[in-house]
Amino acid sequence: MLLRHTPKEITERSALTINPAKTCQPIGAMYAALGIHGCLPHSHGSQGCCAYHRSALTRHYKEPVSAATSSFTEGASVFGGQANLMQAFSNIFAVYNPEIIAVHTTCLSETIGDDLPQIRKKAIAEGKIPEGKYVISASTPSYVGSHVTGFSNMVKAMTDLAEPTGKKNGKVNLIPGWVEPADMEELKRLAKLMGVGTIMFPDTSGVLNTPLTGEYKMFPDGGVTIAELKSTGDSIGTIALGDWCSGDAARELDKQHKVPCKVLDMPFGLKATDRFIDALRTIAGVNVPDEVMVERGQLVDLISDMHQYFYHKKVALAGDPDQLIAMTEFLVSIDMCPVHIVTGTPGKKFEKRIKEITAGMPFAVNVKAKGDFFLLHQWMKNEPVDLLISNTYGKYIARDEDVPFMRWGFPILDRQGHQYFPTVGYKGGLRLLEKILNLLLDRKDRDDTEMKFELVL
Ligand code: SF4
Repeated sequence: MLLRHTPKEITERSALTINPAKTCQPIGAMYAALGIHGCLPHSHGSQGCCAYHRSALTRHYKEPVSAATSSFTEGASVFGGQANLMQAFSNIFAVYNPEIIAVHTTCLSETIGDDLPQIRKKAIAEGKIPEGKYVISASTPSYVGSHVTGFSNMVKAMTDLAEPTGKKNGKVNLIPGWVEPADMEELKRLAKLMGVGTIMFPDTSGVLNTPLTGEYKMFPDGGVTIAELKSTGDSIGTIALGDWCSGDAARELDKQHKVPCKVLDMPFGLKATDRFIDALRTIAGVNVPDEVMVERGQLVDLISDMHQYFYHKKVALAGDPDQLIAMTEFLVSIDMCPVHIVTGTPGKKFEKRIKEITAGMPFAVNVKAKGDFFLLHQWMKNEPVDLLISNTYGKYIARDEDVPFMRWGFPILDRQGHQYFPTVGYKGGLRLLEKILNLLLDRKDRDDTEMKFELVL
């Protein structure tokens, strides 16, 4: 029992986090930045931070992650990192020749008080940023928020590149939130089936799920281009998926360039996907084609075929707010009961939303923003569940409590497939249900008596 010291009795804690259900802001900023074609993310801080952020992403996506660092030493820590960053701009454009550098801060540079917009202006004035090249920046202090906040801040920074021409491009901006590269591909596929032209940003498909060809590319083929980002100001509307990850960027485009936005839940599960498809339909003024209706019908069919195995199964969940809200709604819609829900990201509105979604459930619900895996484990000791859904770190709890465990979210360090198989949309819903069902039925097969052991389920 690796977690044998976790007590059942719950003590109120305010200043101590044990086994956090989040990671640091720059990891989110770096992931978002990789979704721009030809972008080199830059970590304005010390080398250790950058090494950690890169390795966290590499371990999840199983792909090399390039990023530069301002390489702070004692001098920068005392006098500020402006000189380091100015030098970095010159070196990076000379050596790696990216289209754009996306700079994010770290705890150290934030504590010093480095002003990235001011440093960028100085770099432009001094000719450190070559003609036709770009620098964007986001403030990502890791002592507030989480990796989700960092992702959101960098996505919002991308809207600085919008340059409206006054002539509409007929496209819909699609801000997917922190989802897998495969999910981004799936969202684009659905939009294409609907006949809707989109600009997706960020877009890590073709960046962090690339084929092994034997040919090295410093900058993979995927990612939203600078030209597309400039054009976002001319789009007919924006669909932002997930308020925590994508809402700020969508509202910024609306505020700055009058591009109307809809902020929706991430399209995990039937209802949230319905809302996404409906938003595409209304914004672009198109009809929903039969192919999409067939996919929806298949998901409804699986739900109704296997409903008896989902019914009133209790679930514990840990992850990020946007994912958890959509997943909770999906589970409730198929009569499963998410009873313990934790996110490491702060925000009371998360707790409010979860309470609204679970209001009609027959069991009491524990929900906590800024919570941790330790608390989730304690809840599970007091009220056991049939299934745990979380990132890889939940495996310790699942093993100790002997609970079926579905890996979903970020990071997944010990399994494969998340980069390749989407869980958004109707087809993604089928995959989620397949994973859940396999776990529940494998457990049933393991635990059933010989009398009840069935061939056909
Ligand atoms: S110092 Fe801050 S930014 Fe750097 S790795 Fe630690 S939490 Fe993240």
